Amino acid sequence: MADKRDYYEVLGIQKGASEDEIKKAYRKLAMKYHPDRNPGDKAAEEKFKELNEAYEVLSDPDKKSKYDRFGFAGVDPSYGGGAGGFGDFGGFGGFGGAGGMNFEDIFDMFGGFGGGRRGSARRGGPQKGRDLQKTVTIDFTDALFGCSKQIELTKDIRCKTCNGSGARPGTGRKTCDACGGSGQISQVSNTPFGRFQNVTTCSKCGGTGQVVESPCPDCSGTGRIRKTVKIKVDIPAGVDTDSIITVRGQGEPGLNGGPEGDLYIVINVRPHSTYKRRGNDLYLDLPITFDQAALGAKVQVPGFGESYSYTITPGTQTGSSFRLKGKGVPDLRTGRKGDLYVKVIVEVPTKLSRKEKKAIEDMAKNLGPDAYPKKKKFSTLKF
Ligand SMILES: [Zn+2]
Ligand SMILES: [Zn+2]
Repeated sequence: MADKRDYYEVLGIQKGASEDEIKKAYRKLAMKYHPDRNPGDKAAEEKFKELNEAYEVLSDPDKKSKYDRFGFAGVDPSYGGGAGGFGDFGGFGGFGGAGGMNFEDIFDMFGGFGGGRRGSARRGGPQKGRDLQKTVTIDFTDALFGCSKQIELTKDIRCKTCNGSGARPGTGRKTCDACGGSGQISQVSNTPFGRFQNVTTCSKCGGTGQVVESPCPDCSGTGRIRKTVKIKVDIPAGVDTDSIITVRGQGEPGLNGGPEGDLYIVINVRPHSTYKRRGNDLYLDLPITFDQAALGAKVQVPGFGESYSYTITPGTQTGSSFRLKGKGVPDLRTGRKGDLYVKVIVEVPTKLSRKEKKAIEDMAKNLGPDAYPKKKKFSTLKF
């Protein structure tokens, strides 16, 4: 133990460093040397142990003061005479134990490496099942009015034979022999100054501490079966592409009595041949004839399930729009409907008979340049 490094030196700080400085220094170095980040690296492992030992002492005001006054002899019962002479050293190495360094907090500083006690306990406890996601393509009209869709989904479901317990019906559970019921497997390496303990969740019982006496024959003891199921999903009016519908409890089964996960339905709406949609508003190009545009007319705008009358004013130009208020898509949350924007397109007649051509020529002769003020103005422009 002659080459044992001073705890302050290990953490790279000065004697008299504040609690905060000690914690910061430890965190920084622990991140660097943590075994998870240095698999198989013996030197890093030794550094990590050394670091933990130093931190355990320096983060504890009582031990720190003893170390400051007596050096290693102050904190290590095996050092020098008087084993246990300084009393409360039982916690050393028993990470998380009474009086020892609160190892859980250290792991919490890292946001949970896995290996901390609290993390393992959490893994053994009830856990919500996996959430699932499924894209559903629906018709434009279905998005406007809402619909009910039957979807197929392949997922894990609770085994009906054992009701998810994994035990053959009529048999129970027994204490896991791999972990003795603790749900955790501890790997301990002893050093002269305490134990370095790596706690992992028991893989045999998944951290519950219990295993089935005899596995269920249908699910091989897993409590779940992979199956393709049909689920009815109610899709509300107003959904659009990328809308998400949450179906509670239709994800995968929870673990250890935890609740089922959720199913997220991602909506994809097929485009419409004629109508366009932007948010809750609808857009439509409406072809009208030359005479309707020139003389004005009552036109019918085709809608979904109904049609709307609209009076075109005389002299309506092609490309001009009008709005039908509240004839759009209902808002997904409020139900308030958007508007329908109708753009008028004057359709020019094609494939004219001789008689029809003559009629147009006659009309053209009768209409002087003043009938077309825009064109008239345009012809005098110079750029
Ligand atoms: Zn089963
Ligand atoms: Zn176990």
